[in-house]
Parts: sequence; C-alpha cells; structure tokens
Amino acid sequence: MANLGIPQNTIAVLQKYNFNFQKKFGQNFLIDTSVLDRIISAAEITKEDCVLEIGPGIGTMTQYLAESAREVVAVEIDKALIPILQDTLSEYDNVTVINEDILKVDINRIVQEKNEGRPIKVVANLPYYITTPIIMGLFESHVPLKSITIMVQKEVADRMQVGPGTKDYGALSLAVQYYAKPQIVANVPPNCFMPRPNVGSAVIRLTRYEQPPVLVQDEKKMFALIRASFNQRRKTLVNGLTNAPELKLTKEAVAEALEKMNLSPTIRGEALTLEQFAKLSEMV
Ligand code: SAM
Repeated sequence: MANLGIPQNTIAVLQKYNFNFQKKFGQNFLIDTSVLDRIISAAEITKEDCVLEIGPGIGTMTQYLAESAREVVAVEIDKALIPILQDTLSEYDNVTVINEDILKVDINRIVQEKNEGRPIKVVANLPYYITTPIIMGLFESHVPLKSITIMVQKEVADRMQVGPGTKDYGALSLAVQYYAKPQIVANVPPNCFMPRPNVGSAVIRLTRYEQPPVLVQDEKKMFALIRASFNQRRKTLVNGLTNAPELKLTKEAVAEALEKMNLSPTIRGEALTLEQFAKLSEMV
C-alpha cells in the first residue's frame, strides 16, 4: 500500500471509497510525511513496543506504527472507516482495529490481552473535541503507560506544559504534570491536514512518571481542590473552595491552612504550584 502521508495517495483512497468527512468526529487526516516521521521518532517506538492508536482515520499513522512497533491496536469510532482500514493495513499482521468509542472501551483489558499488562505507548492524532477526557481517562484509570505522544490543539499543548502565574495554567496543567513530564516536540500548521483545521496544532509527548513528583495521601481530594479552585478562577482560593459544596470546607479551615503554609489569605488558586496543592489537601 502506498504511503498515505503523501497527499495524492490519501486523495486516491478517499475517492476510491467515496468517503465523507464527519466533522462531529474531529476528522482531520495527516498529509505530511515529515510530521509523521517526527511523531514516530518523538514516541521512540521500538520492536518491543505495543502501541495504542486512538482514531486511526484511514490508517496513515497506523502504517508508520506498524512498521516500527511489535503490536498496534487502533480504536476507531467511525464504522465507515473500517473497510478502508482493512484495505490500507492489509499488508500488516501486527495491527488490530477495534470499531469502538475510545471513551467506552476497556483499555486496561486491551493492555492485558495484547501486552500481558506491561506498559504500552499511546500515539495519536487526537480528535480535538475529546482531548481532555481521553488524557484524563488514561491517567485516572491507571492504564499501564510508558508515554503518550499526541497531536493536540496548540493551545491545549501549551496548557499542559505551563506553570503557575500564566493565563493557560489550570486543572489540566496540574493533572498532566502530576502524572507525566510534558514536552512539546513540534508545532504543526493547518496545511499538514486534510481538511485543514481552524486552529494550530502541536505534538506533545507526556512521559509517565513511575513515582508522582509530589506525595499525596488522597489523590481524589487533591484533584477535587484543584477543580474547585479553577472552576471559580476569578475568586480567591478561600472563596472558591468554600463555595464548592462537595468539599464541605469552612472559610476558617481554609484560611488557617493558608496561614500555616505562609500563603496570603487573598491568594488565588492559579498562583499555587502542584506541591502547594498537595500540601493543602493534607491540611484541610
Ligand atoms: N490518525 C488519523 C490521521 O492522523 O490522519 C486520523 C486523525 S483524526 C484527527 C481523529 C480520528 O479519531 C478520526 O478518524 C475520528 O473518526 C476518530 N475518532 C473521533 N472520535 C473518536 C472516539 N470517540 N473514539 C475513537 N475514535 C474517534
């Protein structure tokens, strides 16, 4: 099968199957071989690796993954793409395509079946409408992972990488940085996709920590505090946390904890580091 990273080959496949792009599935197919090479090299795929691809589309990146990995599992929601994938991936015996919604599939079971429960790598040109639930789902369900190398909206990649005191800093930054070390590896303009998206894109690699960078006894509690602080970004931390009914915190309790941590009583959540959120969750 011809390399689908070359635009004419993608066009030929789309015409052969009379394929209609579905906007609701965030379908923007990659048509740039140098970007594909960059993703594969950033993910450091070897013949030992089992790779999960989310949203293979017509199989462009899947071909690259099949060449470099031992085993590839590709989960695609759009059933119109399944016969196309059977065709474009017919040469490979190390690829399994699953026609499912990635948010519903049991990824831990896939890892058990295909990699005996050992950590896998995730590589994807993600559908942008569900970037956050996909990433959080992978981390929170504790899927055994080495790394996640993904194409996302540029702005979202920035959010994952920044620290306190910037406008992009938020719950996603903290969650990603608790579980993994983020590194933007390429910026990708709209003309590398068919059809072109309305936004810039970036490839980011999230390398899973074996041990989180901060110690917390109750992860759930820390993330509840983080969510409550950023839900009400304009409010002080004391007000943000006491307004969140699920936390059941009093103003006095939060103020006392802040004082013990030598933080101002009028500080906002967006000024706190991951370490400070971890400490706060132990104190309130
Ligand atoms: N990997 C291909 C490429 O790079 O050319 C396609 C990437 S396209 C941005 C996103 C793909 O994810 C589409 O094929 C879309 O149908 C698929 N998709 C969208 N929502 C999905 C979901 N919930 N579960 C699995 N796949 C999904």
